[in-house]
Amino acid sequence: MTPPQPTRRAFLGKASLAAASLALQHRPFAADNPPDRKLGIALCGLGNYATGQLAPALRRTRHCELRGVITGSPEKGRQWAREFGFSERNIYSYATMSRLIDNPAIDIVYVVTPNSLHPEHVIAAAWAGKHVICEKPLANTVSECNAMLAACRTNGVRLSVGYRLQFEPHYRELKRLARGGEFGTFSRLTGGLAFTINRRVWRVEKAMAGGGPLMDIGIYCIQAACMAADSTGANHATFAPVAVQAREHPKKRPDFFRDVEEGIDWRMEFAGGAVGEFSTSYNAGMDRFRAEAPKGWIELAPAFQYGDLRVTTSLGAPAVGEIPPSQQAVQIDDFALCVKEGRESSVSGEMGRRDMVIIEAIYKSAAENGRRIEIKV
Ligand code: NAD
Repeated sequence: MTPPQPTRRAFLGKASLAAASLALQHRPFAADNPPDRKLGIALCGLGNYATGQLAPALRRTRHCELRGVITGSPEKGRQWAREFGFSERNIYSYATMSRLIDNPAIDIVYVVTPNSLHPEHVIAAAWAGKHVICEKPLANTVSECNAMLAACRTNGVRLSVGYRLQFEPHYRELKRLARGGEFGTFSRLTGGLAFTINRRVWRVEKAMAGGGPLMDIGIYCIQAACMAADSTGANHATFAPVAVQAREHPKKRPDFFRDVEEGIDWRMEFAGGAVGEFSTSYNAGMDRFRAEAPKGWIELAPAFQYGDLRVTTSLGAPAVGEIPPSQQAVQIDDFALCVKEGRESSVSGEMGRRDMVIIEAIYKSAAENGRRIEIKV
């Protein structure tokens, strides 16, 4: 029999209280990790993204490997153990994942469950002494992000977010151009990401997803805009617009999009003068990002896919070198190296929290007829 699960609210409350009083637990830091040792990763949630992208990526990683799973299905767990050649002792359920504390084979938990479950799973992993990568969005609210960051801090573990494009060569080029490249400072940013959802899935249930396409895919535009507007890179993880304004699209399918937005347009104002205008929807098709500066521009279309991004600039195609076959393998390896070397990821939990601050402000503006909302991260 599985022990009773605390409610999410009780769990978060308990975790932050416990954070104040309990002693620090197992903390594998740089000294425990010789450079040639591959770290062990456990995937928490074996749905589409874990199966289709992360598991294949973990066959390519050099600094870590898949060594366990946390799943609601023991049969699926055994199948993954056979396929990836790890011990069945490394199969956990969501209710038993606190026992990871006794398992030195697992260094990192990668949380890939629906958005509303991220806080519970990240906090459980942190209290089991494991470093954590959490899928985007980090949580559904800023206060949940705070609880997650606190749990990781208290337990001396590192937290990163699955922002795979931060490591993609064209986005590295975007960041290079933003920080004093040959085009000058980007002043106008535009783009959008949209696709059509016809099946009732957790992504269109507010309780599970926290919101609609803004939480799920609009977040990529927010990420790209912050990269392009951040001309110094000094506050990379907390660099944010100073204000936003937003308007929800009128619903063409109100019966389907009952409690989440069908689509939304928003504007971001940055301190350096850059302005961004973006759109996202679950009832349209779009995938592009463009940044314009006085002396040139860069455009990505498609901009946010797992591969085959098409990128042009006013000077032609940028020379970015070899494109790695898996964005996710690069992203996961970067975090594994951070853990081994005892340093913070450039894509930290703070960055995940920043994006939730921006998203909350966008929703607030949309709820208040497009009022300009100032942002304080
Ligand atoms: P999915 O529905 O395919 O998988 C979710 C998994 O969580 C399933 O294995 C499901 O069994 C499990 N689960 C556990 N408790 C559950 C519950 N109470 N209700 C429903 N499912 C439950 O979803 P997905 O597309 O794999 O997305 C998972 C996470 O990954 C989301 O946070 C999503 O935003 C993120 N994601 C990121 C990217 C990216 O490019 N970085 C791409 C896709 C998804």
